[in-house]
Amino acid sequence: MKIHEYQGKELLKKFGVVVPRGVFCPTVDDAVKAAETLGGKIWVVKAQIHAGGRGKGGGVKVAKSLDEVREYASQILGMQLVTHQTGPAGQKVRRLLIEEGADIRKEYYVAALTDRASQKVVMMASSEGGMNIEEVAHATPEKILKAFIDPEDGLSDAQAAKLATGIGVPAESVDCAVATLKGLYNCYMQTDASLAEINPLILEGNGDIKAIDAKFNFDSNALYRQPEIMAYRDLDEEDPDELEASKFDLSYISLDGNIGCLVNGAGLAMATMDTIKLFGAEPANFLDVGGGATTEKVTEAFQIMLRNPKVKGILVNIFGGIMRCDTIATGVVAAARETHLSVPLVVRMKGTNEDIGKQILSDSGLPIITADSMADAATKIVAAVS
Ligand code: GDP
Ligand code: MN
Repeated sequence: MKIHEYQGKELLKKFGVVVPRGVFCPTVDDAVKAAETLGGKIWVVKAQIHAGGRGKGGGVKVAKSLDEVREYASQILGMQLVTHQTGPAGQKVRRLLIEEGADIRKEYYVAALTDRASQKVVMMASSEGGMNIEEVAHATPEKILKAFIDPEDGLSDAQAAKLATGIGVPAESVDCAVATLKGLYNCYMQTDASLAEINPLILEGNGDIKAIDAKFNFDSNALYRQPEIMAYRDLDEEDPDELEASKFDLSYISLDGNIGCLVNGAGLAMATMDTIKLFGAEPANFLDVGGGATTEKVTEAFQIMLRNPKVKGILVNIFGGIMRCDTIATGVVAAARETHLSVPLVVRMKGTNEDIGKQILSDSGLPIITADSMADAATKIVAAVS
């Protein structure tokens, strides 16, 4: 799960990381009022969406008067903000953060994240802040420093100081940077985050270290014990189809291809997607209906897949274990009728009550194409959509 920058900064502040004073604003009038209340001469108007790269897309603007605050807030609020993380359609801006302007002397990058290769938490830091870190990692990997953390000890002062010095924090500001890195690590650990990133972390003219951006991802499996994080969830920022699917306990992820897949079990779902690709086509989604798929669930799954205009055919691939093939067949027939299915449908089912299931499909009178092996199923659905 992701959260907004202003929420991330609330969290960081609790762990002793210094952030600019700021006010969350849902309207343009609120934004101007917030700037007045904050005082000063420079403010930053920031789009709040669950994606990075807002600056380059025109979602972060520095205002030098209250008139400019109004102008930028009006421009940004309601805009369809396109960044490298939103996809070409962009994301509608519904919320703003107004902050006091920072006096930036230098921008750094720092993050805590789970490193799968070492199976440890790693603190990353770089002198190349403000940039797209993937580009830095690609072009100049030596400019990214890493410290691997022993979970028993946490991030030590020595490790934090080595990172701070390594990225060029001046000696008089190292203590401040160490406190920031430790705060970031503790925040990451205690909130069950999988990524906590500050880009940029800045050195101010007066030597202070401040976080002027905050990006978090949380482990969804831990949300049950993180009510405070759960309360930050913003459904406006989530894919409407994925949200709808989650209400029916379906694991659904939108993809870019044109073959809808309905499968039971995450492993089989991934194998099915691989097979589709192997036969030269692209899946339109990952969809795991889980172990207890009822007719209602299968119908809902069909409806969600068919809402995607790119879907030109559907492949149902079911292993009947606990879930019997006849139950699935009944669900598929009902769903095809209810959704007035007009795209080709290939069904492969194996396992318990396979014969009864196949009989139900052929008795339905619907133009369902049946398949025996994975290869057979993939060949048939790829031929049907091309
Ligand atoms: P992102 O593009 O989504 O990562 O948004 P950021 O919050 O990182 O803002 C993008 C850029 O805007 C930063 O890298 C800074 O260069 C600039 N920026 C953000 N806040 C301030 C500020 O207070 N003063 C100035 N001068 N620039 C800022
Ligand atoms: Mn940023």
